[in-house]
Amino acid sequence: MSHESDQFRFDTLAVRAGQQRTGESEQSEPIFPTSSYVFGSAAEAAARFAGEVPGNIYSRFTNPTVRSFEQRLAALEGGERCVATSSGMAAILSTFMALLQSGDHIVSSRAIFGTTSVLLNNYLAKFGVETTFVDLTDLDQWAKAIKPNTRLLFLETPSNPLTEVADIQALAGLAHQHDALLVVDNCLCTPALQRPLELGADIVIHSATKYLDGQGRCIGGAVVGREDVVGTDVYAFLRTAGPTMSPFNAWVFLKGMETLRLRMGAHCRNAQLLAEWLQQHSKVKQVHYPGLASHPQHALAAKQQQGFGGVLSFEVAGGKQAAWKVIDSTLLISITANLGDTKTTVTHPATTTHGRLTQEQRDAAAVSDSLIRVAVGLEDIEDLKSDLQRGLDLL
Ligand SMILES: *Cc1c(COP(=O)(O)O)cnc(C)c1O
Repeated sequence: MSHESDQFRFDTLAVRAGQQRTGESEQSEPIFPTSSYVFGSAAEAAARFAGEVPGNIYSRFTNPTVRSFEQRLAALEGGERCVATSSGMAAILSTFMALLQSGDHIVSSRAIFGTTSVLLNNYLAKFGVETTFVDLTDLDQWAKAIKPNTRLLFLETPSNPLTEVADIQALAGLAHQHDALLVVDNCLCTPALQRPLELGADIVIHSATKYLDGQGRCIGGAVVGREDVVGTDVYAFLRTAGPTMSPFNAWVFLKGMETLRLRMGAHCRNAQLLAEWLQQHSKVKQVHYPGLASHPQHALAAKQQQGFGGVLSFEVAGGKQAAWKVIDSTLLISITANLGDTKTTVTHPATTTHGRLTQEQRDAAAVSDSLIRVAVGLEDIEDLKSDLQRGLDLL
């Protein structure tokens, strides 16, 4: 099982990795909804609890369906070990709790998922872990922010909603120069488009809720990396604290991964077409999408990623009222902040995902009132254009 990723290529691993067929000879992966497991004898129970023999003990930390999910995602990311969690936020929290202690310091991109900022500012800070926020694409700022007690560098690339792209290889080099770990939230690209571990990152975080599920059904997360970091410290935290993925959710994500690359390719194609159409539209001021030649990190994204992703954002003339008019004129596209779904979603970041920030913080993040984010789904591109055209006509 552990040599799978050496033997097989991505598309094979996506369909096959992590499957353990039972005595029932089932073709599709089974779900194991059981909280505990039965031991043959008191001696066997003792040996399993002591870790002397491998085997299932209790589903807070050992479940066959969850293990299949972990092995498949680890294979796709090229990591030694994956620990599945109950949500993307639980994956981030587990990583921080496992690897940091009071007095440690984090350098993080400012352009991260809003709830991750809250976790750092309101909770990690409470336990004596301080965070310095820097501009994702400014390597100088990252370097200057590092202190003797810096343990982690944290980022998402491309960022959401402005799709800025960070140089993972350069930041991994910087982190390692200072004995720090580089943690990359790979939610927007997924391993189908970007494999941060191959670029030198130490840990990959996932919100499986997004593209790994791919159809907006379940909440889940994962941490992927080396056995001596993820397999020991992160696993020990999960075993103790219990932010565990359910077997049913693991099964949904497991099946989602089988079509991940096909779906990501289709998301990328639709997003590229929509970005190009918006860019030439007279009512649109600016489009943010790494697949456009005008994007500041277009060349880096082309080198680092195997596709430009399914998320784009654009600015209309006329501020919040104009942006809301475009959003409210849609009949097909869903007004929701989720992403990574086959169904296209639209959101107004300034009043939703970034609504808790002060005006100054929003300005610093360049999230303007006229910005609209679209997570492009798999509908027919002409129908998506028509749905946005209706509101743009009113401006
Ligand atoms: C959604 C998201 C998260 C949080 O994941 P949950 O599954 O909602 O807890 C973290 N990072 C990014 C980039 C996300 O989009």
